[in-house]
Amino acid sequence: MILIDKYQRFQKNLQLHHLFPERNDGICACGCDKPLPNKRRKRWASDECRRKSYTYLCVIKGDTATIRDLLFQIERGFCRGCGVECGPKEWDADHIIPVHKGGGACDMDNFQTLCKQCHWDKSADEARQRARVQNKFAHENKGYYL
Ligand SMILES: [Zn+2]
Ligand SMILES: [Zn+2]
Repeated sequence: MILIDKYQRFQKNLQLHHLFPERNDGICACGCDKPLPNKRRKRWASDECRRKSYTYLCVIKGDTATIRDLLFQIERGFCRGCGVECGPKEWDADHIIPVHKGGGACDMDNFQTLCKQCHWDKSADEARQRARVQNKFAHENKGYYL
C-alpha cells in the first residue's frame, strides 16, 4: 500500500498514526519533544499538539479547505504572480512545484496564492512544457533529432 505518492494530489491512504506514530519513551509524538503529562495521554502532550499534527496531516493529504485556510492566513489573498488582492473565491492554491513534477504531498511551503489569470497562465506554460518534452521523446523514438 502506497501511503505517500508525490505525483498525486491526494494521499487517500495516509493516516495520522503514519506521520506521528505513538512513541514508547513517554515523549509527545508531534515532534515538540515535550514529555506526556500523565498516563491518560498516550500520544500527545497537549490538545494543541494533537490539533497541529492533525492540520499537518490534512495538508499532506491534500485537503483543499485546510490548505486554503492556512494559505489565506499566510498570504491574505494577494496573488504571488501579479500582486493583485483577490476576492475570497477568486484565487487558487497553486503547487509551486507542480504535482506532475513530484510536488504532491507537500507542506505549505510548496503552496502559493495565484489569481485565476496567473494560475491559468502558469498551467498553460506547464502544459506547453510537457507537450514539448513528450514531442521530443516521440521524435527520438522515431530516430529524429530536435
Ligand atoms: Zn507535542
Ligand atoms: Zn495574478
